[in-house]
Amino acid sequence: HNAKDQNVEIRRYTPAMQMKAKERLKLENDLRRALERGEFYLVYQPQVQLDSGETVGMEALLRWNHPKRGLVSPADFIPIAEESGLIVPIGEWVLRTACLQNKEWQMKGYRPICVSINLSIRQFLQPNLAGKIGAILDEIGLDPCYVDLEITESMTLDKETTFEQLNRLKELGVFISIDDFGTGYSSLHYLKDMPIDRLKIDRSFVSDVLEDSNNAAIVSTITSMAHHLKLKVTAEGVENVEQLEFLRQQHCHEAQGFLFSKPIQAAEFELSFLKPLLRLHS
Ligand code: C2E
Ligand code: MG
Ligand code: MG
Ligand code: MG
Repeated sequence: HNAKDQNVEIRRYTPAMQMKAKERLKLENDLRRALERGEFYLVYQPQVQLDSGETVGMEALLRWNHPKRGLVSPADFIPIAEESGLIVPIGEWVLRTACLQNKEWQMKGYRPICVSINLSIRQFLQPNLAGKIGAILDEIGLDPCYVDLEITESMTLDKETTFEQLNRLKELGVFISIDDFGTGYSSLHYLKDMPIDRLKIDRSFVSDVLEDSNNAAIVSTITSMAHHLKLKVTAEGVENVEQLEFLRQQHCHEAQGFLFSKPIQAAEFELSFLKPLLRLHS
């Protein structure tokens, strides 16, 4: 390719790029109104304990039903929400809604499970995050031990801030997980002292664990490291029984993925995955 060809290419892409910027601005404006218009809802995906086969948790995942576009993927709107700061009120809505749902199910007499909620970096860096979450949990009356906050490695780069935030959250009594583990840059040097409870092995390692022996080595190593550090370990993106069998052999504690269920709406989750508390006959 010579310089002339490249120019042609640039000219061809420029209008498309402008469109993209416009589109993005439009989406951001729509996002600004989505909360008050009630366009968000949550879906839940079960987290299954491998030795018992029981559903011990669920991850709450945000969905946006756009009036014109229909369902917009979190991959498309979460980055916009983060850059615009809208993720803070949206994230608070997610937290409140997921915790209310969990409390409601406990009140209905189901065996309690833990709800995992994804935090964005903007939320995580809020000065009084633990205070805010504590107030919401108090108001709802949900025991913090049934709440798991998922953060990612990229959010933990500033050691001092990370440890301070995590310590306050741990004092509150919530569970803390590192999501997408293995894809970030956290150093083992400070992972070892971090007040966290669980590693969630990223889907990219799990998905071809059987085809790619390097991925198998990584999954096996993360699992064994989690055991040594006395952390719980959950595999994400488990899609077939062969992957599940591999994870069992590695003594991975829990798994999440399409093999068990896609993320589904609350009513369906309740029917398919919640079990009544066992009661003694009177
Ligand atoms: P994540 O937290 O790692 O969530 C797991 C994603 O993997 C979900 O995508 C889920 O649908 C998908 N998944 C689960 N099992 C499988 C599987 O077996 N195969 C495949 N191919 N995919 C599977 P989703 O719901 O599209 O969410 C994407 C990301 O958006 C999430 O990744 C999370 O980073 C972000 N996100 C979702 N909801 C929220 C939220 O409420 N707040 C924030 N800050 N981020 C959120
Ligand atoms: Mg997650
Ligand atoms: Mg993940
Ligand atoms: Mg992710």
